[in-house]
This record gives sequence, C-alpha cells and structure tokens, in this order.
Amino acid sequence: MFVRFGLKGKLVLSDRIGDTAEETIAEAVQEANERLFRRGVPREVSSGEVGQITSWRVEGNEIRLELQSGPYTRAHDALFRFRKQLSLAMGRHRLGIRGIAIDEFVLTLGEEVPDTAIPKLPFIGEVRRETGRVQVRLDLSAGELEDRVPDRLLRLIEEKMEAKAYGGKAEHWELLYQSPERPPIYRENPTEEMIARGWIRHGASRGQWIYAPPAVQVFRALEAIVQEEILRPLGFSEMIFPKLVPWEVWMRSGHAKGVYPEIYYISTPKTRDPAYWEDIGDYFKVTGKVWVEEIRKRIEGPIGGMCYAQCPPFWPFVQGETISNDVLPIRIYDRSGTSHRYESGGIHGIERVDEFHRIEVLWIGTVEQTVKVAEELHDRYRHVFEDILELQWRAARVTPWFMAQEGLIGEGCCAGAVGTTDYEALLPYNGTWLEFQNVSVNGDKYPRGFNVKLQSGAECWSGCSGIGYERWAAAFLSQKGFDTSRWPEAVAERVGEFREIFRFV
Ligand code: ATP
Ligand code: ZN
Ligand code: MG
Repeated sequence: MFVRFGLKGKLVLSDRIGDTAEETIAEAVQEANERLFRRGVPREVSSGEVGQITSWRVEGNEIRLELQSGPYTRAHDALFRFRKQLSLAMGRHRLGIRGIAIDEFVLTLGEEVPDTAIPKLPFIGEVRRETGRVQVRLDLSAGELEDRVPDRLLRLIEEKMEAKAYGGKAEHWELLYQSPERPPIYRENPTEEMIARGWIRHGASRGQWIYAPPAVQVFRALEAIVQEEILRPLGFSEMIFPKLVPWEVWMRSGHAKGVYPEIYYISTPKTRDPAYWEDIGDYFKVTGKVWVEEIRKRIEGPIGGMCYAQCPPFWPFVQGETISNDVLPIRIYDRSGTSHRYESGGIHGIERVDEFHRIEVLWIGTVEQTVKVAEELHDRYRHVFEDILELQWRAARVTPWFMAQEGLIGEGCCAGAVGTTDYEALLPYNGTWLEFQNVSVNGDKYPRGFNVKLQSGAECWSGCSGIGYERWAAAFLSQKGFDTSRWPEAVAERVGEFREIFRFV
C-alpha cells in the first residue's frame, strides 16, 4: 500500500542561532539526508521511500523543519534521529536543544483504504480524499510521535483492512474429527426439562441461573470425570485464580484490544467513609429505590471487569520470572469461580448465559512441551467423550482472524500448532452443534505479555482449555435425557439419587 509520512515542526534551541551555527546545521542536514537516515535501510530501497529533511530555515532560536518519508526511517523517526545528531554538533556552539514542537503531521495512504478502516480517535483530525490518495491529519504531540503512535496507527488501519478481507468471518473452521453417529435417546430441550423439574430457576440478574441440588449433582459428576480421567492422570495441580480482573492484566493478555462489548465492569467506592454514603442508604430507606445516578458519581473506575477468560488473572503469579527447567511443563487448573460475559440478545438456555462455571486448564513449557500437553489433552478428552459420556461430538480447528493476522499460522516446526480446537456436540432437539469446550495453543502470547522466560533460554509457550459445566451438561442432557437408567454407567453412578429437596405449595 502507498504510505507517506509528512511532518512540519521546529526544534527550539537555548539561544539565538548565529551564522556559524547555521553553517553547522546545513552540514548536519546534508549528513542526515545522505547517511544518517539511510542507516538500517536495505540498499535497494529508493531514496524517495526514506526519510528526508525537505526544507529547513533558522528563525531566531528555532529551526523550522519539514520532513517527508515513505515507509523507511519515517518522518518522525528521522526527526528524532536528527535531534540526537544535531544536539552533539550544537554543543560546539554552546547551544542546547530545549524542545520540539509539531505543527503538522499528515499520514497519506493509498485510495484503497476505506473510511471504515480509519479509527475514530481523538487525535485523528481531518480525513481528506483526493484522486488516488487519502490524507489523514494527525494531531499528535512530540512525545506521542516519539512513542511511535503513527506506526501503531498505520498497523491498526492495515489490520482493519485485513479483517475485512478475511471475509467478515470471525474465524476459519476446519473439521478434524467426527465421532460415530449415535442415535439420540432424547430429543427435547434439556433447559426446559430442568426448569419443569425445578432443577434450575432464573437468577435475579440477566443470563444467570440458580442451580438446585440435582443440577449441581450433574455438574459435579462431570467434574469428577474430568478430574479422574483427565487432570489427575496428566498430573495437573489445582490453583485458585482471581476473578476480578484489572486493566493491567488485560493490557498484557491482549484482551484490552477488544473485549469491551462483553465485559461486566467493576468500580470501587471513592471512599469507605460511612458518612459519605449515609444519604445513599437513607434514600433507599425512604423511597425504597436504590439511588443509582448518585452512586455513579461516587465510584472510581471502572478498574477492570469480572473474569472473562479464566487464565489471564493467573499470569501475574509468574510475571517477570524465569521458570526452572526441572518443573516444566507447568500443569495447573482453576475451578474456583464464575466467568461473566455480557451476551446481550444471545442468551439461550443454560448453554449461553452471562454467568457461567468452568474449569480452566493451563500449561506452560517449551514449544514442544506445550504442543505435547495439548495432544495429551486431546487424547484424554476423546476417551472421555467416546468411552465414558458416549457423545456424538466432533472437533474442529478454528483460527480466529486475529491469529491469522498476527502471522501465527506460518510454516515450520510447531508454527501451525498455534490456534484453537473447538469441541462440539450435537443438540438433537434442534439439530445444531454446540461448542462445549476448547483447547488452545497460545504460542508465546502470554509469556511475552507477562515477561515470562525459561531457564534454558528456549522459547516459552503456553496453552489453555476451558471446560464449561453448563455446556457439558447441555451437551450430555440433550443427548441422554433425564432417565438415569439409560445413561452411561459412569455418570449415573456418580450422580446417584437426585436430591429434590424443594417442594412449593
Ligand atoms: P461462543 O462462540 O459460543 O460464544 P466463545 O468462543 O466465546 O464461545 P471461548 O471464549 O472459547 O467461547 O470460551 C471457552 C469456553 O467457555 C467455551 O467452550 C464454553 O464452554 C464456555 N463459554 C463461553 N461463553 C459461554 C457462555 N456465554 N455461556 C456458557 N459457557 C460459555
Ligand atoms: Zn485461557
Ligand atoms: Mg462468545
């Protein structure tokens, strides 16, 4: 794509610039254009593509500059390189560089960039289309230019274009395995049957169920199978991960790039002084209503959200550490609490809810170890679904577009291993397939984000697998129904007699 950066700005010096200093500046500009800006640029790149100072003049104690570039030694990079070189040269004239001011910064792109690929951000000013080009005026401080904001912005625009080219599809789906057909012994919607039996009732919040003992017996039986058949034989140890996740964690895990529409946000009180809150309580006592608008003014944040994906809040445990060779691969899991997602209109039965329960399995090791653990898990899962739960299920490789984009599906050893396998079960009552769990090899995404290294110096990878109780139960019950005498023995045995302890009159 056609890319040009154009910058107008000035360097502010500590004193008036005299004639001899001006000669030094002229030499520095020539030196920069001919050599400094070409440093690190491949030989074959034409000079029009590389940063250049296209004009300059001295005014009192300022040097007014214009820089242009293509993709190499971009105008802003060139400016900062030049400042460094010039500050050495100005020392001779007892002049120091006191500041940089940016008057104008324009990013020019090819006409193929649609308006929808240009983000709506406060520092993006006028967007002008002329024949063959799109000009985007950026309102950025020198500090933001030095932080390489324009480079990340360009990358973001490219990403938005690639996401479109990916066909609007959220992910690419490829069948890996399909179990033998099993004639279903049940054809109803299990959520409706659970409600009818009094096993579940809606919670007060949206997408939330209260599970009575028989429903929990089913969850716990499935959980016991996971523990006995998968986690114990493969040597996983239990941990407890936090369930309130601050922005710092999602910044490192990458969720900060786009999780916003599905977050349950968390805020804290501005103070825990009871006097500060007294009228809020009084308002309720008198009106019977909670004074929400007023509460909103007295809280800080949001500071983050409720657990969304279960593994990110684990990572601060190993953040900044180097893991000993002799404990690899690390194999752990968490089953300590709820996950929360704002599913909006998508809520459905027990299988798509806003508050759900999961076991999250997590492992860390070398590239080979990480891929091997994923394979061990696939084998154990397959055994459980085939021989114990006797499900009709299938596995598919799904590649979210952001992975395709980050070049994580390349050639070579294990490169193709990064990605997610979804496990799906047939729901006979409506003929659709339900994703009830997944296994992901996440590559170096988390170790890189949380700065985790291996003692051997080898590349550190990780993987995770989310086992959703609601989804497992929905898959199992929709295929096997509620008559335990027709269930696979291992489940029936573990569930035992249903404890239906409520009776309403
Ligand atoms: P979907 O495409 O169905 O929304 P997802 O891709 O968002 O699923 P993941 O982020 O891969 O799901 O979550 C891993 C696991 O967590 C799922 O396989 C499922 O078991 C569980 N899960 C995710 N969202 C929900 C939900 N809203 N209700 C119940 N379980 C869920
Ligand atoms: Zn995870
Ligand atoms: Mg989802």
